[in-house]
Amino acid sequence: MIEKAKQELEKLLNGNKNFVNSTPTLKNITLETLNKYAFHQEPYACVLTCSDSRVVPEIIFDCGIGELFVIRVAGMTTGANVVESIEYAVKKLKVSLLILLGHDDCGVMKYAKEHYPEPTEHFSSILKCVYPVLDKKEDITCHNFFAQQHTIWVEDYLMKHSVIINEAVKNNKLYIAKCHFNHSTGIVNIIDN
Ligand SMILES: [Zn+2]
Repeated sequence: MIEKAKQELEKLLNGNKNFVNSTPTLKNITLETLNKYAFHQEPYACVLTCSDSRVVPEIIFDCGIGELFVIRVAGMTTGANVVESIEYAVKKLKVSLLILLGHDDCGVMKYAKEHYPEPTEHFSSILKCVYPVLDKKEDITCHNFFAQQHTIWVEDYLMKHSVIINEAVKNNKLYIAKCHFNHSTGIVNIIDN
């Protein structure tokens, strides 16, 4: 892993410990910080996660204004806008860490499980991104395991659909950390695959 990304990931996981221990530092959350970054930003990490109201990266990682470039979309699903948002963070903002943050009890995973394999009139672009995991592993019963498999699929998707992300990873300019947020403990774990 790139040293810079390693340090940033450690910082965020330490921030997560503050959250878990209910000892947030509450740094950089005032207007003073916003004024400092009024005309520029220099986030050190990009986070792609779910829109779920319980998954708030800045709180979970004990971060303030200007630290994270966050993209939230239902089910942490992907498409052109999402890919290009990450590419912007990598190419223009030069972030060296991308966190893919799946989570427990994800409504999209539950919905997909209930409706697989039927094509549905609504939510089709979202389901298109989560059905592939079920295509491979139809015996998935645990939604949280499903979410983790989906996170692995998202990394694979990004590597295949974005030259910018793919080259940044291969050239040691970007590290992708696949993570999972546990609702019971508040802990963010790294997913091994
Ligand atoms: Zn979700």
